[in-house]
Amino acid sequence: MAEIEREAMEYDVVIVGAGPAGLSAAIRLKQLDADLNVVVLEKGSEVGAHILSGAVLDPSGLDALIPDWKEKGAPLNVPVKEDNFYALGPAGSVRIPNFPMPPLMNNHGNYIVSMGNVCRWMAEQAEELGVEIFPGMACSELVYGDNGEVKGVVAGVFGLEEDGSYGPNTEPGMELHGKYVFLSEGVRGSLSKEVIEKYGLQDGKDPQKFGIGMKEIWEIDPAKHKEGTVTHTMGWPLGSNAGGGSFIYHLDNNQVYVGFVVHLNYKNPHLFPYMEFQRFKHHPMVAELLRGGKRVAYGARAISEGGYQSMPKMVASGVALLGCSVGMVNVPRIKGNHNAMLSGIAAAEAAHKAIAEGRSGDELHDYEVDVRTGAIGKDLKKVRNVKPLWSKFGMVASLVFGGFDMWTNSLFGISLFGTLKHGKNDAEATEPASAHKPIDYPKPDGTLSFDRLTNVSFAMTNHEESQPCHLRLSDPMKPISDNLPMFDEPAQRYCPAGVYEIVEKDGKPEFVVNFQNCVHCKTCDIKDPAQNITWVTPQGGDGPNYPNM
Ligand SMILES: Cc1cc2nc3c(=O)[nH]c(=O)nc-3n(C[C@H](O)[C@H](O)[C@H](O)COP(=O)(O)OP(=O)(O)OC[C@H]3O[C@@H](n4cnc5c(N)ncnc54)[C@H](O)[C@@H]3O)c2cc1C
Repeated sequence: MAEIEREAMEYDVVIVGAGPAGLSAAIRLKQLDADLNVVVLEKGSEVGAHILSGAVLDPSGLDALIPDWKEKGAPLNVPVKEDNFYALGPAGSVRIPNFPMPPLMNNHGNYIVSMGNVCRWMAEQAEELGVEIFPGMACSELVYGDNGEVKGVVAGVFGLEEDGSYGPNTEPGMELHGKYVFLSEGVRGSLSKEVIEKYGLQDGKDPQKFGIGMKEIWEIDPAKHKEGTVTHTMGWPLGSNAGGGSFIYHLDNNQVYVGFVVHLNYKNPHLFPYMEFQRFKHHPMVAELLRGGKRVAYGARAISEGGYQSMPKMVASGVALLGCSVGMVNVPRIKGNHNAMLSGIAAAEAAHKAIAEGRSGDELHDYEVDVRTGAIGKDLKKVRNVKPLWSKFGMVASLVFGGFDMWTNSLFGISLFGTLKHGKNDAEATEPASAHKPIDYPKPDGTLSFDRLTNVSFAMTNHEESQPCHLRLSDPMKPISDNLPMFDEPAQRYCPAGVYEIVEKDGKPEFVVNFQNCVHCKTCDIKDPAQNITWVTPQGGDGPNYPNM
């Protein structure tokens, strides 16, 4: 193929992804020096369109970034008033009292927010400071300099032919060069994955671990709505099949966020995370809350769960990984937005100092030190054993030993366990289908529970059919030759958007990829046992269009 000619634009810092990490970095850079040229590129049709969190926001990141956020009208309108934690059985529930919980689990002082709306507001703040933000611009490639450093990205490629080649309607996009490139793509970012592999950034660290989080927004009967109430559950329906649990957050306007997370290190390939979520809503406690209401939105996104011991090295020449491109979620708290913001601030401060010293294209070592030894490292270190304890010994042990470990870490800064390892990655954790029983899931009733395709229509996702499939199979035969006989091809079940199907054609099984349904959760890139699926970014503007997720 002939070399593609592209225009190039020069910036001080190029930021990929307008989530809390990327926007915080942009804002801090301009706060430090109004003359810096900063650009943020976002693949969603608008800022917030691809943002999916619970979300209970710990405001410590925002406090550090914009201390007068309240006066500036930040959409943090619902303070947490009540915090409940339940262990569920099939028909009943046991409330776990708050007093044995370590203080870090307390949600007092936090806010129930739409992170999509928080990001929209942050983008306004950034633009007022002079940051250039381009939504609908997917960054599809990295640009490397002569010394092997990352010097920019390619963004804004549109209208490729179905086979990925350039045709008469292809817009080749442009190169955006920066003295530093920040990758704030969130969990399992496609460019971040390339950088981690190319520079060996995961070497010597534990593998990253993940969960799949699914979420619906419900409008419920005002008589049942309790603004500011946060409820978490564990136990049924997952039982011992997988780690995970639910969240139910009452925001304003009689709306409730109902969500479910399944840890992706589950062994049984028959497990169907989406159906576990649907089944969960039939628990009497949840059904009672939702009955008479209606689901108004649906979405899904992977969540990073490896924490402290899985954070890769986060800098290489010319590039820094921010937020969940590194994996900064505090798992027992299910919170990563505050750390994403703090990482944006830290990366901005390191880049500002480097640029002021006349540097460019090198490693922002100060950023890495800040993350590991500062507020983010401290937040994650205290809880580093909760996930490995759960994976090894199950939910009850993780509650007891994990709770004890969080107490000793919080009070004395020590752990009797040291730092436990995560072991295998989530793809390797999958065991043969023959070793496990199939799970019988009840049919969705269309009132409390819904089939996947109906729900996906509430994510308002869209991908132009004429575009190349952005879910690339290294070996197109593997799903049928390997995954189907060995694992009953779990892609049929782990994808929360029904992208992958096995259909029968001429009496033979065929693997179908309905990429139009994709909600950009990245689970396939993580969980495929053959590691045969690579999620690459489709053209800008494609994907979900979340309202106030
Ligand atoms: C179900 C669920 C519940 C959660 N609940 C909470 C909670 O209650 N509280 C909390 O604090 N945290 C919660 N989290 C974690 C939180 O969502 C993350 O920690 C946070 O989103 C990380 O922010 P980020 O900026 O790193 O990435 P993201 O918020 O994922 O933002 C990344 C942005 O980059 C864009 N992007 C990605 N790749 C490209 C590309 N190549 N080109 C252009 N744009 C790109 C994406 O479209 C997106 O807008 C939850 C996560 C999940 C999945």
